[in-house]
Amino acid sequence: MKFTVAIDGPAAAGKGTVARAIAAEFGFAHLDTGLLYRAVGRRVLDGVPPEVAASTLRHGDVLRDDLRTPEVSRVSSEVAAVPKVRQALVAFQREFAVQDGGAVLDGRDIGTVICPDAEAKLFVTASDVARAHRRWLELTAAGHDVTEDGVLEDIRERDARDAGRSDAPMKAASDAVILNTSALDVDEASAIALEEVRTRLGGR
Ligand code: C5P
Repeated sequence: MKFTVAIDGPAAAGKGTVARAIAAEFGFAHLDTGLLYRAVGRRVLDGVPPEVAASTLRHGDVLRDDLRTPEVSRVSSEVAAVPKVRQALVAFQREFAVQDGGAVLDGRDIGTVICPDAEAKLFVTASDVARAHRRWLELTAAGHDVTEDGVLEDIRERDARDAGRSDAPMKAASDAVILNTSALDVDEASAIALEEVRTRLGGR
């Protein structure tokens, strides 16, 4: 059975949490596509040109444990604006999406560009202040020395770059369900997303 769930939205809105809940509930494979761009950004920081970093990406590159730093967040969104970087990553994501047994992909352009025919689409969002607070909690728990104001500034800058680029900008697909998680906890947000997928799955 082919069944694709596309989840898009800005940083720290809860896309990953919702995607993992869907994958666990329905037994779908899950791909965090942000990790692909983070792995490219990490290699660029190591001195590899962006197009080369994207076209020679290996499985091990996305398993590195240094992909969630503020520096990699910034560089990944810079390289994500390079059309050749995006092109190099399209085929892998599309193949992943149509695998037998179902798949859920989260990112910025899944419902619009990578999988415009996805059976279920969600755009997970939240206020920038709520997202900055969550990301600040995560980063400080992981030992990063960051201020909440600094995280908010980084998030605003990244949102503007991701939404403003000409190639595959972050935006909700016209047929996506908008899920605003500003005032929701993890269980509430996941429950709404699971219900949407269950409805789309129908009698399958
Ligand atoms: O989702 P995450 O914050 O880990 O993604 C890191 C960066 O990768 C984003 O800021 C965005 O620039 C880029 N990205 C993208 N398209 C995707 C997923 C991520 O441009 N599908």
